[in-house]
Amino acid sequence: MRSFSKILIANRGEIALRVMRTCRAMGISTVAVYSDADAHSPHTRFADEAVHIGPSASNESYLQIEKIIDGARRTGAEAIHPGYGFLSENADFASACEAAGITFIGPRSESIREMGSKSIARRIVAGAGVPIVPGYNGDDQNVESLRSQALGVGLPLLIKASGGGGGKGMRIVREVSALTESLESARREADRAFGDGSLLIEKYIEDARHVEFQIMGDNQGNLIHLFERECSIQRRHQKVVEESPSPALTPELRSRMGEAAVAVGRSFGYTNAGTVEFILAPSGEFYFIEVNTRLQVEHPVTEMITGLDLVMLQIEIAAGKPLSLTQEDVKCRGHAIEVRLYAEDPDNDFLPSTGIIHHWNPPSVMDGLRIDAGIEAKTEIGIHYDPLLAKVISHAADRETALRKLTYGMKTLSVQGIQTNRDFLIRLLEHTEFREGRYHTGFVTGRLGELIAQEDPALDLACAAAAALYLQESRRARAEILPHIPAGYRNNPYRDPLVKLQIGANTFDVSYRGTGDDTYAVSCGGERLQVQVVSSEPGGLRLMVGCVQRLFQVTEADETLYLHSSAGSRRVTRLPRYPQQNAASDHETASASMPGQVLKILVNVGHEVAIGDPLIILEAMKMEQTIRAAMAGVVEAVLVKMGQVVSPGDVLVEIAAIGA
Ligand code: ADP
Repeated sequence: MRSFSKILIANRGEIALRVMRTCRAMGISTVAVYSDADAHSPHTRFADEAVHIGPSASNESYLQIEKIIDGARRTGAEAIHPGYGFLSENADFASACEAAGITFIGPRSESIREMGSKSIARRIVAGAGVPIVPGYNGDDQNVESLRSQALGVGLPLLIKASGGGGGKGMRIVREVSALTESLESARREADRAFGDGSLLIEKYIEDARHVEFQIMGDNQGNLIHLFERECSIQRRHQKVVEESPSPALTPELRSRMGEAAVAVGRSFGYTNAGTVEFILAPSGEFYFIEVNTRLQVEHPVTEMITGLDLVMLQIEIAAGKPLSLTQEDVKCRGHAIEVRLYAEDPDNDFLPSTGIIHHWNPPSVMDGLRIDAGIEAKTEIGIHYDPLLAKVISHAADRETALRKLTYGMKTLSVQGIQTNRDFLIRLLEHTEFREGRYHTGFVTGRLGELIAQEDPALDLACAAAAALYLQESRRARAEILPHIPAGYRNNPYRDPLVKLQIGANTFDVSYRGTGDDTYAVSCGGERLQVQVVSSEPGGLRLMVGCVQRLFQVTEADETLYLHSSAGSRRVTRLPRYPQQNAASDHETASASMPGQVLKILVNVGHEVAIGDPLIILEAMKMEQTIRAAMAGVVEAVLVKMGQVVSPGDVLVEIAAIGA
């Protein structure tokens, strides 16, 4: 048995903090590693010591094996916890730790290597008698052979990168005509992302659910499961909501799947924490898809229903301690649900967003509500890292109560300054089918129209009024002379104060007139509102609108006000009083729709393009996006260089109509 007095956490954000909390609770000192961008980040400040490992780009810092091992040596850390992502499933990193005499808190490097290949994992698991999705995982990777294997498997099918993760290189194929092109593009993407173009083909199971089992094995050969997590709420094949128990499992199915998960673990001689993922078909049949050889993002769900600290178990197992639990000791109590708060835009295909968090208000403190966050006010969300901001997890005696608490918690949470999926998550939690547990992996795509932003004119109006009154209250507070003059006072008594505001795509001309007693008649478009300012303070206003009193929290950043109330949040921008001219011409520009780095430039000046032709490929936060021509014409200018970092709205390419 070893004993650790200091652990280095080779990660950042919420997971680094989460691992450090357990270390601290165990009396173990912590060492953070950080890149330039993270010099002042919460995880860097929380740790007892922090080692600088390089520039912001992750391949120059968080993916630098040598620098991290060197950091452990310098600080005398005896073990390294890799978190998830970055080097957590990198067998070379685990081996390098082993070689340096530092304990890697995770499975043996050999297990990581075997399971890092979905194809090898399928072969081993099939050998252990656990069902795998019908498909092809052979060595013959010639596109023609893959094509004939695919036709043998039958449509619809799913092409996957064998070394893949994060949904990259995945293609659903429903038509034979799309097969060759899908195989070729999946190969290119896999090659670029993982340096390995090997593909595997699986039957695509329609309307399937994603049900995974947490497993935990010690070095003495004990291996147990800690029940399942249902993770079928996904966008782009990646999870956003997870819960346990799964609403889809009967006790009998749970026990069969749990046994299969343990059998999978045994087939690899698995140690430490891992996750065995299954696809559950509507018929009730289940199939193995892969093993993740690390702590999962969604592990808190398991912690809440079992009462166990998974990081503590990981550390104890890595230290050589046998599991003190048998399968029978693990009990599932109540129900837990997690939502992932991402910096992304659900209305724009869930593309990542960047910016500065001007206001962060975690959910109200409630019994059974856990917040694992890696952000704070003023945190800058850049292009280099995963867009996960925080996880909110609720636990209660039953699913309905857990859902209600989580929904309420999410409504009290406010994160302002960047586009997030907060409102999308609330709509999802309130969706009838989700509430009834009737969902599968196609749910988000199938119900997108109901889940993305809905018009809410009443909220727009209330926020426009609140913003206008907030601006005048802060002007009044700042006024050094005559602070006693009534709000909205004008020399010219015939003109009410007017502000021009923008909310979403709509413009609001808001005027207001004091009618005594801090009450205002606010006019906006054809609407009139009677609003009373109950109290006003630097961070917001308490307003009474239509007999209902609400607090509107307001955060100012330049010309933008971020408002948050129990009725919802809005970003309100002050506009100049006179509109600016729009340039219209027979020119078209292609602009970045997400922040990112230019990965590929596909056109040159003089190049003729048709509508839809790819122009530029951008990459940010593990996502690629192709910018296409919106008009046929000739490329007149390419305004970016390879590797350049761009912001949303930046013009990348200019196109002129032929003959223009
Ligand atoms: P990655 O490692 O890239 O995340 P996975 O193999 O874990 O890829 O699959 C990601 C998601 O894709 C799963 O959670 C599931 O929703 C879907 N999926 C994977 N395999 C299948 C399949 N054979 N049929 C239907 N859906 C699948």
